[in-house]
Amino acid sequence: MLARLTRHAHEHGIRIVATADDHDLGHAEISHTPDWATTYPPHCMRGTPGQAKVVETTLRAPLTIPMHMFGPSTLARFLDLAREKFEISTAGSNSVEIGRPSLPQKPTILVLDGR
Ligand SMILES: [Zn+2]
Repeated sequence: MLARLTRHAHEHGIRIVATADDHDLGHAEISHTPDWATTYPPHCMRGTPGQAKVVETTLRAPLTIPMHMFGPSTLARFLDLAREKFEISTAGSNSVEIGRPSLPQKPTILVLDGR
């Protein structure tokens, strides 16, 4: 069913907005003694199947905007790992307006300025 819905959206130009979490053990959100409000047990760990999107929902040319800005070094590590599969571009601002004409043709990571 998920594969049919995803294929239908792709074939009919229907926009798909999706999120995915991505962590390593150094992230502030990850704790082995979580408070379940701001910290949680390890989940969506980078490089594990738990971080990957369900295959049936893989997007053809996803635009990824990193949401967790833990700092420049964390972002740099993430971009280094992603560079193999994604174009990397920067918005030059802390917000961006996205429409169908501005969607990338290749899988792209768009980095917004921090706060
Ligand atoms: Zn998380």
